[in-house]
Amino acid sequence: MKREILGVAFDDLTRQEAAQRGRELLEEDKFHYVVTPNPEFLLAAERDPEFCRVLNEADLVLADGVGVVYSARIMGTPLKGRVPGIEFAQDMLACLDEKKGRLFLLGAKPGVAEEAGRRILERYPGIVLCGTQDGYFKDEENVLLKVAAARPDLLFVCLGAPKQEKWMARWGRHTGARMAIGLGGALDVFAGKVERAPESWQKLGLEWAYRLKKEPQRAGRMARLPLVLVKAAGERWKRK
Ligand code: UDP
Repeated sequence: MKREILGVAFDDLTRQEAAQRGRELLEEDKFHYVVTPNPEFLLAAERDPEFCRVLNEADLVLADGVGVVYSARIMGTPLKGRVPGIEFAQDMLACLDEKKGRLFLLGAKPGVAEEAGRRILERYPGIVLCGTQDGYFKDEENVLLKVAAARPDLLFVCLGAPKQEKWMARWGRHTGARMAIGLGGALDVFAGKVERAPESWQKLGLEWAYRLKKEPQRAGRMARLPLVLVKAAGERWKRK
C-alpha cells in the first residue's frame, strides 16, 4: 500500500517486507529502481517537479529518515516504520550472495567504491564484483557503457540526491541490471570512511543527530529539516 507524504508516495513496508519485495524484483528479468527518500528529498522534490516524478515512478519508495515517519504520523497516515536505505542494501546483498549474482558500485570519491567492494566481498563472498566507478564523472553516456559492459544484476548508485535518482530513471534500464538502488553516502559507510550511528541512537530515532555531531558542516543543510514537519502539519490542517 502507498502512503503519500508531501507529494511523494511511499511504500508502507517493514524492513522484512521491503526485503521480500526486493527479492521478488531481483528475480524478475527486467529493470527496477529503488529510492530511499529522507526529509531533504521531500523539500527538494517540492521545488523540482522532475525529481518528484522520478521518485514517484520508482518500483520501491522506502522511508529512509525518521523525519519521514514523523511527517506521516503528523499527516494522519502513519507508516509501519522506516527502512534505512543501507539496511535494504544489506538485505539485497545477502540475496545476491545466495544467487552468486553480479554487483556494480557507482559513486563516491575515487577509491571509495573499490574499498567498499573489497569489504562487501569479505562479508558476502558469493557476490561477483563486476565493476566500480567513482561519482565524479562528466560523460554520463560513457559511464552507462561501462556499467552495461560489466553486466551487473544489482547496481548501487551513490551520487547524492537528486543526481542519483535522475541517473537511474534516465539510464538504468539501459544497464541491463535487474535493480538499481539510490543510496546517497552508503559507499562511504561500506568503505568504513563514515560510521553509522550506534544502534542505541538508531533505536531512539537520533541517527540524524549523530550524523550532525560527526559532520557539523551538515548543520546548514539540516537546519531546514524541521520544515518538513511543519509542512506535514499544514497539509493535515488543509485536509480537515
Ligand atoms: N557524490 C558523487 N558525485 C557527486 C556528488 C556526490 O559521487 O557529484 C557522492 C559523495 O561522494 C557521497 C554521496 O555522493 O559519497 C552523497 O553523499 P551525501 O552525504 O550527500 O548523501 P546522503 O547520504 O545524505 O543521501
